[in-house]
Amino acid sequence: MEDCLFCKIAKKEIPSETVYENDSLIAFRDIDPQAPTHILIIPKEHFASLEEIPEEKKGILADLLLAARQIAKDKELSRGYRIVLNTGKDSGQAVFHIHFHLLGGRQMTWPPG
Ligand code: AMP
Ligand code: ZN
Repeated sequence: MEDCLFCKIAKKEIPSETVYENDSLIAFRDIDPQAPTHILIIPKEHFASLEEIPEEKKGILADLLLAARQIAKDKELSRGYRIVLNTGKDSGQAVFHIHFHLLGGRQMTWPPG
């Protein structure tokens, strides 16, 4: 999608620190990390949010989560990690191209802010 920051990152039109990539998804370091490890995992295809993933493409969600699990393993987050999927305005979603946050390397707190 034109004028989408994460589509541009997926197409390498904007640089990012890529940590994992396959045909359908890409993972890169968050520019403003909230934990020692903070990685964003996105499908290369544009969907604004979870709300826009059609039923027939639900496999994308499993692919993103399993990629997050693999990256957590690669980054040795053996003590645990948190996966966040902000969806919509009240959640704080700022970039409207679906992305999972993978956070780790420190003790997380609850409730989230
Ligand atoms: P959200 O609030 O869930 O939409 O998260 C958007 C995330 O994208 C934030 O954590 C930002 O720090 C991150 N971000 C914004 N621009 C970039 C960029 N150019 N490269 C990497 N991460 C970015
Ligand atoms: Zn996009």
